[in-house]
Amino acid sequence: METKWYEDGLNMIEELTTNAEQIQDELLREILSRNAGTEYLRQFLHGQTDKQLFKKNVPVITYEELKPFIDRIANGDRSNILLAEPITGFLMSSGTSGGQPKMTPVTAEAAQKWELFRTLYESPVMKHFGDINQGGKRMELMFARPEIQTPSGLMAASVTTSIYKESGFRAMLPKFYTSPVETIFCPEPEQSLYCQLLFGLIQRDEVVLFGSVFASTLLRAIKFLENHWQELCSDIKAGQISHRITDLGCRKAASLIMKPNPQLADLIENICNCKSREGIIRKLWPKANHIRCICTGVMRQYTAELEFYSGGLPLVSALYACSEAQCGINLEPLCKPADVSFTFLPNMAYFEFLPVNNDHDESIEIRSNNNEDTEPVDLVNVKPGYRYELLVTTSEGLYRYKVGDILMATGFHNNAPQFQFVERQNVAICVDQEKTSEADLFKAVKEAKALLDPLGFVLTEYTSYADTSSAPGHYVLFWELKEKEGNHCKEFDPKIMVECCYRMEESLHYTYKIYRKKSIIAPLEIRVVKQGTFDAIMDYYLSKGASLSQYKRPSCIKSKEALKILDSRVMGKFFSPKSPL
Ligand code: AMP
Repeated sequence: METKWYEDGLNMIEELTTNAEQIQDELLREILSRNAGTEYLRQFLHGQTDKQLFKKNVPVITYEELKPFIDRIANGDRSNILLAEPITGFLMSSGTSGGQPKMTPVTAEAAQKWELFRTLYESPVMKHFGDINQGGKRMELMFARPEIQTPSGLMAASVTTSIYKESGFRAMLPKFYTSPVETIFCPEPEQSLYCQLLFGLIQRDEVVLFGSVFASTLLRAIKFLENHWQELCSDIKAGQISHRITDLGCRKAASLIMKPNPQLADLIENICNCKSREGIIRKLWPKANHIRCICTGVMRQYTAELEFYSGGLPLVSALYACSEAQCGINLEPLCKPADVSFTFLPNMAYFEFLPVNNDHDESIEIRSNNNEDTEPVDLVNVKPGYRYELLVTTSEGLYRYKVGDILMATGFHNNAPQFQFVERQNVAICVDQEKTSEADLFKAVKEAKALLDPLGFVLTEYTSYADTSSAPGHYVLFWELKEKEGNHCKEFDPKIMVECCYRMEESLHYTYKIYRKKSIIAPLEIRVVKQGTFDAIMDYYLSKGASLSQYKRPSCIKSKEALKILDSRVMGKFFSPKSPL
């Protein structure tokens, strides 16, 4: 009897996780022997490929240390700088460096590796829900981002965009997905979303999965639907797409599939025209058996709201990956988002784990690393209950590279460890995938507060808050102001405050601005608070046990009580009037 493709995937997972140590060693040997002659490795290994020498001599690095090499490649230097194979392009991650997206090289092999990873992360999901490729279509909301051309002529794209561009992916789109390729590549995010919802509604009887890469995108889609269902229904009734859609590709795709369907329009209207939207996803797509999106990490803030709309459909976080490497898969797709662990796949990259201090999270039971454990440990040697920073060495030219994620080992599947995602390092505030550091925030505040100077005000304290109570989320800045002369805060000009909001947005990094333009993030808000508010905040933290000598104003507020204190002292709220350039 023919085995199902996902059964082959499950068998491969068993094999890989059983032989994790050997596969890791072989992979490292292969990466080093292929690239021993590169300029980067030569300076540390002098042409040798020994694992112990690699561990001893090759430094653990961040993007900043790699950037000069990446810049040379991007500027057209074709010598073997990081890799022996030709570099075919770059992947742009949502992290930034000096306001610019981080770029990592890719080679011709990359597409096959993502394809294999996809088979592996889909297999456990299919085991639970059946082969969805047989039974219907996926309503996955997908958005390609514009590519950037580097001076070398090599293009830089996000991982998802490069996957959507693959000919194999495009070929299977019409059969397995509800979104036509034109809607995915539509440069207008609202039009793209409108059309993807429209196509998903028209094909609602075939939809077996509702999803997107991240939970925040799905919530944004549901909110959009709440505001536009009447227009969508009228399009479905008439069999014609609204005039709001000006993108020619989308209009053409619509003309191929749309025909008047008043019954369907009435049905959708009845579902959407309800007081409560609880369970709307299940009602609109009754054959969907799960919701697929990453709900771990920063996305956990969205799971409660998504559960409200889901009508009991399981939320499945299938994978953990980054632009730099494919890492882990979820072998228990039905697990609650808060409990999800990802099993690392030893054939994807050579993984090492730098022990990190465990003492700052009271919510999880964790063990303390003693001070001697500061050397990176191999994949198979991590200890459950301990936290680590992830390092990757890849066939794409990264060597002992800090991805920037903190993970906690939770156990093993065969000999491969499993990890919970703990947090992104150096991220102060984040409502989607944009990752804004304290330094980014500080720089933007500094630029904006300069506008207050001529008015005779100074900013004495600030903090931030990621308001995700409604989608899309937005940044809230709490500002305490003081008159330069005297201590009483006189009226501040609302026009200037609005300008401050805009100036902040303009001064934030590349990814923030892209996300704002695409309405993935809503306008930034400044809330001016009464004088003395930040003293009250300090008192609050001291009452919770912080030491006065070590007290540091938090750059982002997470505590509900602290937020209440701030909100109870707000004197004025101001919003950025337009997207930053
Ligand atoms: P990018 O920089 O755009 O490649 O995004 C990759 C980053 O997204 C990772 O380094 C993580 O910080 C985050 N991420 C990816 N998958 C997950 C996941 N399953 N859970 C939590 N965070 C994730």
